[in-house]
Amino acid sequence: MALVVCKFGGTSVGGAERLRAVAQRLVDRKLAGDRVVAVVSAMGDVTDDLVALAQNITDDPAEREMDMLLATGEQVTISLLAMAIHAIGYKAISFTGPQVGIVTDSGHTKAKIQEVRADRVSTALDAGMIVIVAGFQGVTPDGQITTLGRGGSDTTAIAIAAGIGADVCEILTDVDGVYTADPRVVPAAHKLDVVSYEEMLEMAATGAKVLQLRAVEFARNHGVVIHCRSSFNDMPGTIVREVDDSMEQAIISGVTHDTSEAKVTIRDVPDRPGVAAIVFSYMADANVNVDMIVQNVSEEGMTDISFTTPKEDLARAKRAADEVVTELGARLWSVDESIAKVSLVGAGMKTHPGVAAKMFSTLADAGVNLDMISTSSIRVSCVIDGVHVERAVQALHTSFGLDSDSVTAEMSPASGKGA
Ligand code: ADP
Ligand code: ASP
Ligand code: MG
Repeated sequence: MALVVCKFGGTSVGGAERLRAVAQRLVDRKLAGDRVVAVVSAMGDVTDDLVALAQNITDDPAEREMDMLLATGEQVTISLLAMAIHAIGYKAISFTGPQVGIVTDSGHTKAKIQEVRADRVSTALDAGMIVIVAGFQGVTPDGQITTLGRGGSDTTAIAIAAGIGADVCEILTDVDGVYTADPRVVPAAHKLDVVSYEEMLEMAATGAKVLQLRAVEFARNHGVVIHCRSSFNDMPGTIVREVDDSMEQAIISGVTHDTSEAKVTIRDVPDRPGVAAIVFSYMADANVNVDMIVQNVSEEGMTDISFTTPKEDLARAKRAADEVVTELGARLWSVDESIAKVSLVGAGMKTHPGVAAKMFSTLADAGVNLDMISTSSIRVSCVIDGVHVERAVQALHTSFGLDSDSVTAEMSPASGKGA
Protein backbone atom coordinates (compact mmCIF):
# COMPACT_ATOMS: atom_id res chain seq x y z
CA MET A 1 0.00 0.00 0.00
CA ALA A 2 1.47 3.34 -1.05
CA LEU A 3 0.69 6.87 0.03
CA VAL A 4 0.51 8.95 -3.15
CA VAL A 5 -0.18 12.54 -4.10
CA CYS A 6 -1.49 12.92 -7.68
CA LYS A 7 -1.58 16.39 -9.19
CA PHE A 8 -3.69 17.04 -12.30
CA GLY A 9 -3.05 20.17 -14.39
CA GLY A 10 -5.56 22.43 -16.13
CA THR A 11 -5.88 20.52 -19.41
CA SER A 12 -6.30 17.23 -17.54
CA VAL A 13 -9.36 18.57 -15.67
CA GLY A 14 -10.66 20.76 -18.52
CA GLY A 15 -14.32 19.67 -18.72
CA ALA A 16 -16.83 17.22 -17.28
CA GLU A 17 -15.61 14.25 -19.32
CA ARG A 18 -12.02 14.74 -18.21
CA LEU A 19 -13.05 15.22 -14.58
CA ARG A 20 -14.92 11.92 -14.75
CA ALA A 21 -11.81 10.24 -16.16
CA VAL A 22 -9.68 11.70 -13.35
CA ALA A 23 -12.26 10.52 -10.78
CA GLN A 24 -12.09 6.99 -12.20
CA ARG A 25 -8.30 7.02 -12.18
CA LEU A 26 -8.25 8.05 -8.52
CA VAL A 27 -10.80 5.39 -7.59
CA ASP A 28 -8.77 2.72 -9.43
CA ARG A 29 -5.75 3.78 -7.42
CA LYS A 30 -7.73 3.51 -4.20
CA LEU A 31 -9.08 0.08 -5.17
CA ALA A 32 -5.50 -1.04 -5.80
CA GLY A 33 -4.89 -0.33 -2.10
CA ASP A 34 -3.24 3.09 -2.16
CA ARG A 35 -4.05 6.05 0.07
CA VAL A 36 -4.71 8.85 -2.41
CA VAL A 37 -4.52 12.65 -2.26
CA ALA A 38 -5.36 14.59 -5.44
CA VAL A 39 -4.21 18.16 -6.01
CA VAL A 40 -5.90 19.95 -8.90
CA SER A 41 -5.50 23.09 -10.99
CA ALA A 42 -8.19 25.37 -12.35
CA MET A 43 -10.03 23.87 -15.34
CA GLY A 44 -8.56 24.53 -18.79
CA ASP A 45 -7.77 28.20 -19.36
CA VAL A 46 -9.73 29.45 -16.35
CA THR A 47 -6.75 31.17 -14.69
CA ASP A 48 -5.83 32.96 -17.95
CA ASP A 49 -9.47 34.02 -18.34
CA LEU A 50 -9.56 35.41 -14.80
CA VAL A 51 -6.34 37.36 -15.43
CA ALA A 52 -7.89 38.77 -18.62
CA LEU A 53 -11.05 39.75 -16.73
CA ALA A 54 -8.98 41.71 -14.23
CA GLN A 55 -7.05 43.39 -17.03
CA ASN A 56 -10.33 44.54 -18.53
CA ILE A 57 -10.98 46.40 -15.31
CA THR A 58 -7.51 47.86 -14.66
CA ASP A 59 -3.91 47.39 -15.78
CA ASP A 60 -2.70 47.74 -12.21
CA PRO A 61 -4.86 45.48 -10.02
CA ALA A 62 -4.08 45.22 -6.32
CA GLU A 63 -2.19 41.97 -5.79
CA ARG A 64 -4.31 40.99 -2.79
CA GLU A 65 -7.42 41.21 -4.95
CA MET A 66 -5.74 39.26 -7.78
CA ASP A 67 -5.18 36.41 -5.34
CA MET A 68 -8.77 36.61 -4.16
CA LEU A 69 -9.84 36.31 -7.81
CA LEU A 70 -7.40 33.63 -9.02
CA ALA A 71 -7.97 31.34 -6.03
CA THR A 72 -11.56 30.84 -7.17
CA GLY A 73 -10.43 28.81 -10.21
CA GLU A 74 -9.13 25.84 -8.25
CA GLN A 75 -12.12 25.85 -5.92
CA VAL A 76 -14.43 25.04 -8.83
CA THR A 77 -12.35 22.00 -9.77
CA ILE A 78 -12.12 20.47 -6.29
CA SER A 79 -15.85 20.50 -5.69
CA LEU A 80 -16.69 19.07 -9.13
CA LEU A 81 -14.07 16.34 -8.78
CA ALA A 82 -15.43 15.35 -5.37
CA MET A 83 -18.92 15.15 -6.92
CA ALA A 84 -17.58 13.01 -9.78
CA ILE A 85 -16.09 10.54 -7.28
CA HIS A 86 -19.31 10.46 -5.25
CA ALA A 87 -21.21 9.79 -8.48
CA ILE A 88 -19.33 6.53 -9.00
CA GLY A 89 -19.95 5.47 -5.43
CA TYR A 90 -16.79 6.33 -3.49
CA LYS A 91 -15.93 8.62 -0.59
CA ALA A 92 -14.12 11.86 -1.32
CA ILE A 93 -13.79 15.26 0.32
CA SER A 94 -12.48 18.53 -1.09
CA PHE A 95 -10.42 21.15 0.75
CA THR A 96 -9.12 24.58 -0.17
CA GLY A 97 -5.45 25.41 0.41
CA PRO A 98 -6.27 27.39 3.57
CA GLN A 99 -8.39 24.52 4.90
CA VAL A 100 -5.47 22.09 4.71
CA GLY A 101 -3.09 24.55 6.31
CA ILE A 102 -0.93 25.69 3.40
CA VAL A 103 0.55 28.65 5.29
CA THR A 104 2.47 31.19 3.19
CA ASP A 105 4.23 34.51 3.52
CA SER A 106 2.34 37.61 2.39
CA GLY A 107 4.00 37.88 -1.06
CA HIS A 108 0.71 38.10 -2.92
CA THR A 109 0.66 36.46 -6.41
CA LYS A 110 3.93 34.59 -5.71
CA ALA A 111 3.70 33.66 -2.07
CA LYS A 112 6.16 31.20 -0.56
CA ILE A 113 4.99 28.27 1.55
CA GLN A 114 6.20 28.53 5.13
CA GLU A 115 4.43 25.61 6.68
CA VAL A 116 2.04 22.77 5.81
CA ARG A 117 -0.24 21.63 8.61
CA ALA A 118 -1.35 18.47 6.86
CA ASP A 119 -3.10 16.71 9.76
CA ARG A 120 -6.50 17.41 8.23
CA VAL A 121 -5.44 15.49 5.11
CA SER A 122 -4.19 12.56 7.20
CA THR A 123 -7.40 12.45 9.24
CA ALA A 124 -9.54 12.32 6.08
CA LEU A 125 -7.30 9.61 4.61
CA ASP A 126 -7.70 7.59 7.82
CA ALA A 127 -11.46 7.87 7.35
CA GLY A 128 -11.11 6.13 3.96
CA MET A 129 -11.58 9.25 1.84
CA ILE A 130 -9.95 10.24 -1.41
CA VAL A 131 -8.75 13.69 -0.42
CA ILE A 132 -8.90 16.50 -2.98
CA VAL A 133 -6.93 19.70 -2.44
CA ALA A 134 -7.04 22.96 -4.39
CA GLY A 135 -3.63 23.71 -5.86
CA PHE A 136 -1.95 27.11 -6.18
CA GLN A 137 -3.46 28.72 -3.07
CA GLY A 138 -2.54 29.30 0.54
CA VAL A 139 -3.21 31.57 3.46
CA THR A 140 -1.04 33.94 5.48
CA PRO A 141 -0.84 33.52 9.27
CA ASP A 142 -3.31 36.41 9.56
CA GLY A 143 -5.86 34.89 7.19
CA GLN A 144 -5.17 36.54 3.81
CA ILE A 145 -5.65 34.34 0.72
CA THR A 146 -2.50 34.03 -1.39
CA THR A 147 -1.43 32.26 -4.60
CA LEU A 148 1.90 30.62 -5.34
CA GLY A 149 2.75 31.95 -8.81
CA ARG A 150 1.70 30.55 -12.20
CA GLY A 151 2.08 26.79 -12.31
CA GLY A 152 1.90 26.77 -8.50
CA SER A 153 -0.32 23.71 -8.16
CA ASP A 154 2.84 21.66 -8.70
CA THR A 155 4.26 23.25 -5.56
CA THR A 156 1.10 22.56 -3.55
CA ALA A 157 1.35 18.90 -4.52
CA ILE A 158 5.00 18.60 -3.54
CA ALA A 159 4.40 20.46 -0.27
CA ILE A 160 1.56 18.15 0.68
CA ALA A 161 3.60 15.10 -0.32
CA ALA A 162 6.38 16.33 1.96
CA GLY A 163 3.90 17.18 4.72
CA ILE A 164 2.27 13.73 4.82
CA GLY A 165 5.42 11.77 3.96
CA ALA A 166 4.05 10.43 0.66
CA ASP A 167 6.02 7.74 -1.17
CA VAL A 168 5.80 9.63 -4.44
CA CYS A 169 4.28 12.80 -5.88
CA GLU A 170 2.84 12.18 -9.32
CA ILE A 171 2.50 15.24 -11.56
CA LEU A 172 -0.04 14.19 -14.20
CA THR A 173 -0.14 16.43 -17.24
CA ASP A 174 -0.79 16.64 -20.97
CA VAL A 175 2.61 15.21 -22.03
CA ASP A 176 4.14 11.82 -21.20
CA GLY A 177 6.90 13.22 -18.99
CA VAL A 178 9.89 15.52 -19.13
CA TYR A 179 11.23 15.64 -22.68
CA THR A 180 14.60 16.60 -24.14
CA ALA A 181 12.85 19.77 -25.40
CA ASP A 182 9.31 21.11 -25.44
CA PRO A 183 7.60 18.49 -27.66
CA ARG A 184 5.38 21.21 -29.10
CA VAL A 185 8.46 22.90 -30.55
CA VAL A 186 10.66 19.87 -31.29
CA PRO A 187 8.63 16.94 -32.64
CA ALA A 188 11.78 14.75 -32.47
CA ALA A 189 12.14 15.33 -28.70
CA HIS A 190 12.04 12.20 -26.55
CA LYS A 191 11.02 11.44 -23.00
CA LEU A 192 13.70 11.21 -20.33
CA ASP A 193 13.36 8.26 -17.92
CA VAL A 194 15.22 9.86 -15.00
CA VAL A 195 16.29 13.45 -14.41
CA SER A 196 18.27 14.65 -11.38
CA TYR A 197 16.90 17.45 -9.21
CA GLU A 198 19.94 19.48 -10.24
CA GLU A 199 19.15 19.22 -13.95
CA MET A 200 15.42 19.64 -13.48
CA LEU A 201 16.03 22.85 -11.51
CA GLU A 202 18.03 24.27 -14.41
CA MET A 203 15.47 23.08 -16.97
CA ALA A 204 12.54 24.55 -15.02
CA ALA A 205 14.41 27.81 -14.44
CA THR A 206 15.08 28.19 -18.16
CA GLY A 207 11.61 27.57 -19.51
CA ALA A 208 10.61 23.87 -19.28
CA LYS A 209 7.31 24.74 -17.65
CA VAL A 210 6.25 21.09 -17.32
CA LEU A 211 7.32 21.41 -13.66
CA GLN A 212 7.25 24.68 -11.75
CA LEU A 213 10.70 25.75 -10.53
CA ARG A 214 9.54 26.25 -6.95
CA ALA A 215 8.07 22.76 -6.90
CA VAL A 216 11.39 21.21 -7.92
CA GLU A 217 13.22 23.26 -5.28
CA PHE A 218 10.76 22.13 -2.63
CA ALA A 219 11.06 18.50 -3.76
CA ARG A 220 14.83 18.58 -3.63
CA ASN A 221 14.88 20.24 -0.21
CA HIS A 222 12.49 17.65 1.23
CA GLY A 223 13.61 14.62 -0.78
CA VAL A 224 10.23 14.16 -2.49
CA VAL A 225 10.47 11.84 -5.52
CA ILE A 226 8.51 13.25 -8.48
CA HIS A 227 6.94 11.08 -11.16
CA CYS A 228 5.92 13.35 -14.04
CA ARG A 229 3.60 11.45 -16.39
CA SER A 230 0.57 11.65 -18.65
CA SER A 231 -2.94 11.99 -17.24
CA PHE A 232 -4.28 10.41 -20.43
CA ASN A 233 -2.46 7.04 -20.34
CA ASP A 234 -0.78 4.68 -17.85
CA MET A 235 2.70 4.72 -19.31
CA PRO A 236 5.57 5.40 -16.94
CA GLY A 237 6.80 8.97 -17.24
CA THR A 238 9.92 10.68 -15.91
CA ILE A 239 11.30 10.22 -12.40
CA VAL A 240 12.92 13.30 -10.88
CA ARG A 241 15.15 12.41 -7.93
CA GLU A 242 18.63 12.67 -6.46
CA VAL A 243 21.12 11.11 -8.86
CA ASP A 244 24.42 9.80 -7.57
CA ASP A 245 27.17 12.07 -8.90
CA SER A 246 29.46 9.11 -9.48
CA MET A 247 27.11 7.75 -12.17
CA GLU A 248 27.92 8.61 -15.77
CA GLN A 249 25.39 11.21 -16.86
CA ALA A 250 24.38 12.44 -20.31
CA ILE A 251 26.36 15.46 -21.45
CA ILE A 252 23.20 17.20 -22.56
CA SER A 253 19.80 16.20 -21.12
CA GLY A 254 17.71 18.90 -22.67
CA VAL A 255 17.32 22.08 -24.68
CA THR A 256 14.98 24.63 -23.15
CA HIS A 257 13.65 27.97 -24.29
CA ASP A 258 11.97 30.91 -22.66
CA THR A 259 10.19 33.85 -24.27
CA SER A 260 8.83 35.29 -21.04
CA GLU A 261 11.68 37.74 -20.42
CA ALA A 262 12.47 41.20 -21.78
CA LYS A 263 15.78 43.04 -22.04
CA VAL A 264 16.22 46.44 -20.43
CA THR A 265 19.19 48.63 -21.42
CA ILE A 266 20.30 51.75 -19.55
CA ARG A 267 22.34 53.80 -22.02
CA ASP A 268 25.35 56.01 -21.42
CA VAL A 269 25.89 55.52 -17.72
CA PRO A 270 29.23 56.72 -16.29
CA ASP A 271 31.75 53.85 -16.18
CA ARG A 272 32.96 54.16 -12.59
CA PRO A 273 32.92 51.98 -9.48
CA GLY A 274 29.54 51.69 -7.79
CA VAL A 275 27.35 52.34 -10.83
CA ALA A 276 26.18 48.74 -11.27
CA ALA A 277 25.45 48.64 -7.55
CA ILE A 278 23.19 51.69 -7.92
CA VAL A 279 21.33 50.32 -10.97
CA PHE A 280 20.60 46.97 -9.37
CA SER A 281 19.76 48.41 -5.94
CA TYR A 282 16.99 50.40 -7.60
CA MET A 283 15.78 47.25 -9.35
CA ALA A 284 15.88 45.22 -6.14
CA ASP A 285 13.99 47.92 -4.24
CA ALA A 286 11.31 47.81 -6.96
CA ASN A 287 11.06 43.99 -6.55
CA VAL A 288 12.37 43.41 -10.09
CA ASN A 289 13.90 39.98 -10.66
CA VAL A 290 17.06 40.22 -12.73
CA ASP A 291 18.38 37.27 -14.72
CA MET A 292 21.30 37.95 -17.08
CA ILE A 293 23.44 41.10 -16.95
CA VAL A 294 25.83 42.50 -19.54
CA GLN A 295 27.91 45.66 -19.34
CA ASN A 296 29.19 46.87 -22.69
CA VAL A 297 32.71 48.07 -23.44
CA SER A 298 33.19 51.58 -22.19
CA GLU A 299 33.60 54.47 -24.64
CA GLU A 300 34.80 57.84 -23.40
CA GLY A 301 34.01 56.93 -19.83
CA MET A 302 30.42 55.93 -20.61
CA THR A 303 28.89 52.48 -20.95
CA ASP A 304 25.56 50.66 -21.46
CA ILE A 305 24.19 48.18 -18.92
CA SER A 306 21.66 45.58 -20.12
CA PHE A 307 19.77 42.99 -18.12
CA THR A 308 16.88 40.60 -18.63
CA THR A 309 13.81 40.43 -16.42
CA PRO A 310 10.46 38.59 -16.52
CA LYS A 311 7.92 40.57 -18.57
CA GLU A 312 5.63 40.54 -15.56
CA ASP A 313 8.20 42.70 -13.72
CA LEU A 314 8.60 45.11 -16.63
CA ALA A 315 6.26 47.87 -15.47
CA ARG A 316 8.20 48.08 -12.18
CA ALA A 317 11.53 47.87 -14.03
CA LYS A 318 10.57 50.83 -16.22
CA ARG A 319 9.64 52.94 -13.21
CA ALA A 320 12.94 52.05 -11.52
CA ALA A 321 14.85 52.76 -14.76
CA ASP A 322 13.41 56.29 -14.78
CA GLU A 323 14.84 56.82 -11.32
CA VAL A 324 18.21 55.33 -12.32
CA VAL A 325 18.48 57.62 -15.36
CA THR A 326 17.85 60.66 -13.17
CA GLU A 327 20.18 59.54 -10.38
CA LEU A 328 23.11 58.70 -12.69
CA GLY A 329 22.54 61.28 -15.39
CA ALA A 330 22.33 58.47 -17.95
CA ARG A 331 21.04 59.18 -21.45
CA LEU A 332 17.92 56.99 -21.54
CA TRP A 333 16.62 53.45 -21.08
CA SER A 334 15.12 51.14 -23.69
CA VAL A 335 13.28 47.83 -23.63
CA ASP A 336 13.31 44.90 -26.06
CA GLU A 337 10.37 42.58 -25.50
CA SER A 338 11.08 40.28 -28.44
CA ILE A 339 14.04 38.39 -27.02
CA ALA A 340 14.21 34.66 -26.30
CA LYS A 341 16.60 32.61 -24.21
CA VAL A 342 17.74 29.18 -25.34
CA SER A 343 19.62 26.93 -22.95
CA LEU A 344 21.41 23.60 -22.92
CA VAL A 345 21.24 21.65 -19.66
CA GLY A 346 23.25 18.55 -18.76
CA ALA A 347 25.13 17.27 -15.73
CA GLY A 348 27.78 15.69 -17.98
CA MET A 349 28.94 19.18 -18.97
CA LYS A 350 30.92 19.35 -15.74
CA THR A 351 33.40 16.84 -17.14
CA HIS A 352 33.12 17.47 -20.89
CA PRO A 353 34.53 20.74 -22.18
CA GLY A 354 33.47 22.23 -25.49
CA VAL A 355 29.71 22.37 -25.05
CA ALA A 356 29.53 26.18 -25.20
CA ALA A 357 31.75 26.32 -28.29
CA LYS A 358 29.60 23.77 -30.09
CA MET A 359 26.44 25.60 -29.05
CA PHE A 360 27.71 28.91 -30.43
CA SER A 361 28.82 27.37 -33.73
CA THR A 362 25.48 25.55 -34.11
CA LEU A 363 23.63 28.83 -33.63
CA ALA A 364 26.00 30.63 -36.00
CA ASP A 365 25.42 27.96 -38.69
CA ALA A 366 21.67 28.50 -38.21
CA GLY A 367 22.18 32.23 -38.78
CA VAL A 368 21.24 33.12 -35.21
CA ASN A 369 23.06 36.03 -33.58
CA LEU A 370 23.93 35.89 -29.84
CA ASP A 371 23.00 38.85 -27.73
CA MET A 372 23.90 37.73 -24.19
CA ILE A 373 25.47 34.58 -22.75
CA SER A 374 25.46 33.07 -19.26
CA THR A 375 26.57 29.74 -17.85
CA SER A 376 26.43 27.56 -14.76
CA SER A 377 28.37 24.34 -14.24
CA ILE A 378 25.59 22.35 -15.95
CA ARG A 379 23.97 24.96 -18.23
CA VAL A 380 24.77 27.36 -21.06
CA SER A 381 22.18 30.00 -22.01
CA CYS A 382 22.09 32.47 -24.90
CA VAL A 383 19.74 35.38 -25.45
CA ILE A 384 18.73 35.66 -29.12
CA ASP A 385 16.15 37.44 -31.24
CA GLY A 386 12.80 35.85 -30.41
CA VAL A 387 11.86 35.33 -34.06
CA HIS A 388 14.55 32.63 -34.31
CA VAL A 389 13.67 30.71 -31.16
CA GLU A 390 12.10 27.60 -32.70
CA ARG A 391 14.84 27.26 -35.30
CA ALA A 392 17.51 27.66 -32.64
CA VAL A 393 16.01 25.02 -30.32
CA GLN A 394 15.57 22.56 -33.20
CA ALA A 395 19.12 23.10 -34.48
CA LEU A 396 20.61 22.57 -31.00
CA HIS A 397 18.48 19.49 -30.40
CA THR A 398 19.74 17.94 -33.63
CA SER A 399 23.34 19.00 -33.29
CA PHE A 400 23.68 17.57 -29.77
CA GLY A 401 22.32 14.22 -30.94
CA LEU A 402 19.04 14.42 -29.02
CA ASP A 403 16.61 13.76 -31.89
CA SER A 404 14.67 10.60 -31.14
CA ASP A 405 16.00 8.81 -34.23
CA SER A 406 19.62 9.62 -33.35
CA VAL A 407 21.76 6.57 -32.69
CA THR A 408 23.50 8.08 -29.69
CA ALA A 409 23.29 11.13 -27.46
CA GLU A 410 27.00 10.82 -26.68
CA MET A 411 29.19 13.57 -28.02
CA SER A 412 32.73 12.59 -28.83
CA PRO A 413 35.32 13.99 -31.19
CA ALA A 414 35.64 10.57 -32.82
CA SER A 415 31.99 10.61 -33.88
CA GLY A 416 32.42 14.06 -35.34
CA LYS A 417 30.10 15.54 -32.76
CA GLY A 418 32.71 16.93 -30.42
CA ALA A 419 33.44 20.60 -29.96
P1 ADP B 1 -0.29 21.49 -16.53
O1 ADP B 1 -1.45 22.33 -16.94
O2 ADP B 1 -0.59 20.03 -16.49
O3 ADP B 1 0.39 21.99 -15.29
P2 ADP B 1 1.73 22.78 -18.16
O4 ADP B 1 1.14 23.44 -19.36
O5 ADP B 1 2.08 23.62 -17.00
O6 ADP B 1 0.76 21.59 -17.73
O7 ADP B 1 3.04 21.95 -18.57
C1 ADP B 1 2.97 20.99 -19.59
C2 ADP B 1 3.52 21.61 -20.88
O8 ADP B 1 4.90 21.90 -20.70
C3 ADP B 1 3.50 20.67 -22.06
O9 ADP B 1 2.27 20.72 -22.74
C4 ADP B 1 4.67 21.13 -22.91
O10 ADP B 1 4.28 21.86 -24.05
C5 ADP B 1 5.45 22.07 -21.99
N1 ADP B 1 6.87 21.75 -21.93
C6 ADP B 1 7.87 22.68 -22.06
N2 ADP B 1 9.06 22.10 -22.00
C7 ADP B 1 8.85 20.77 -21.81
C8 ADP B 1 9.72 19.64 -21.65
N3 ADP B 1 11.05 19.76 -21.67
N4 ADP B 1 9.16 18.43 -21.48
C9 ADP B 1 7.82 18.28 -21.44
N5 ADP B 1 6.95 19.31 -21.60
C10 ADP B 1 7.45 20.54 -21.77
N1 ASP C 1 -4.13 27.52 -12.20
C1 ASP C 1 -2.81 28.07 -11.94
C2 ASP C 1 -2.15 28.49 -13.24
O1 ASP C 1 -2.75 28.35 -14.30
C3 ASP C 1 -1.94 27.13 -11.17
C4 ASP C 1 -1.59 25.84 -11.89
O2 ASP C 1 -2.28 25.44 -12.83
O3 ASP C 1 -0.61 25.22 -11.51
O4 ASP C 1 -1.06 28.98 -13.23
MG1 MG D 1 1.87 23.44 -14.94
